[in-house]
Amino acid sequence: MHTLIDHPCVQHKLAIIRDVDTGHKRFRELATEITKFLCYEALKQIPMKELTVTTPVADAKCKKIDTDLVVVPILRAGVGMLDGILELVPTARVGFVGLFRDEETKKPVTYYERFPPQIKGGTCIVIDPMLATGGSTVAALDLLKSSGAENIVVICIVTCPEGLELVSEHHPDVPIYTAAIDEKLNEKKYIVPGLGDAGDRLFGTSH
Ligand code: URA
Repeated sequence: MHTLIDHPCVQHKLAIIRDVDTGHKRFRELATEITKFLCYEALKQIPMKELTVTTPVADAKCKKIDTDLVVVPILRAGVGMLDGILELVPTARVGFVGLFRDEETKKPVTYYERFPPQIKGGTCIVIDPMLATGGSTVAALDLLKSSGAENIVVICIVTCPEGLELVSEHHPDVPIYTAAIDEKLNEKKYIVPGLGDAGDRLFGTSH
């Protein structure tokens, strides 16, 4: 279950963020801008409640969001998408998942996990710019569900068929929103053509 956001405003920004000559300041700004558009789409189906608001002229029938929102960045690169979500939904709560890959087993290992209690009954938004093998996303979804989360969406900037397949195999109920579905993974498990190491590019840690 995935949705590709092919809007010109998103695709234009994607072309710039992919460029090897885009520096970390601009990269960060673009990650925020793209995430905001993706989040706007991803939250289309969240619960709403009807209410009456008194305007200076008359009563108006209105709607407001009727769910707790919890954003969960997967450390470290997911933090680069956090501002974009919070600009759109400033009252969202924030949980974190830290995972590293065990070089022997090649499996993700959790080194940090902290969720607000509102994951139960609320709507969780898992963010990671690169959904590559899908291993970290599956592990984060496993953790969230075992902590009681039921309504979850995933937002990434770039993904590939391998990652989409793994996540939908393990979590077919979780919709994925992305700005790009690239061709494949290379031997180092980087997305091709992708945009390189998103964490390094966001935080200026590349050589
Ligand atoms: N993580 C990244 O930062 N980039 C990729 O291409 C794959 C995983």
